[in-house]
Amino acid sequence: MLLEKERELVANYGRRMSAEGLSNGTSGNLSIYDPETGLMALSPSGMHYFDIEPVDVVVLDLEGHVEAGTRKPSSEWALHAYLYRAKPDIRGVVHTHSPYCTTFAVLNEPIRAVHYAIGGAGTGEISCAPYCTFGTEELAERAVRFCGAGNAVLLGNHGIVCCGESLKKAYALAGDLEFTARLQYQARCIGTPRVLTEEEMTAALERFQTYGQQPEG
Ligand code: 13P
Ligand code: ZN
Repeated sequence: MLLEKERELVANYGRRMSAEGLSNGTSGNLSIYDPETGLMALSPSGMHYFDIEPVDVVVLDLEGHVEAGTRKPSSEWALHAYLYRAKPDIRGVVHTHSPYCTTFAVLNEPIRAVHYAIGGAGTGEISCAPYCTFGTEELAERAVRFCGAGNAVLLGNHGIVCCGESLKKAYALAGDLEFTARLQYQARCIGTPRVLTEEEMTAALERFQTYGQQPEG
């Protein structure tokens, strides 16, 4: 089966995304890009994550042509393809409607550095792209533009997209940003959160370079 390992990972992380409350119903989608073939393994459209088997994951090129799989690919295939084209180092993309990130997307307001956990995004703030109909190339183009050099962007009145050098990293970032957005929301309920300064975030980002097991284990 073409991109078997990648399709298995997409199916597994989809289950996690649903079980861990990052996606309700059939919302969200995720993918892995394989630079050797120039193809991505992308979740199918409108299927419940616990029903998705590796064979249901669709393989397509970055122009949207299906190379393997019988399911209809995610309606957001362009969002994934545009990100892979714009950011040659990324290998995984996760899009969710996770509730706290989406709360700020509904406000058209960025997620700020209320906690250093935002650091995985590579920027001190997650910008919000203006609203656009889901599944359009216009949405994909805006997402790339507002993402800039970072690894995440809010989609106005819609959700969030996270990228990473692996699907594992993109998925971890989706969780970290949901945590940060939740803190921003909670703190605002009882006061005014203090936002970390640029110097404080720079120092945290520097620390992240050597954080955890080296090499990753
Ligand atoms: P798909 O089920 O087509 O991936 O769409 C879900 C979604 O979140 C659209 O933005
Ligand atoms: Zn969506």
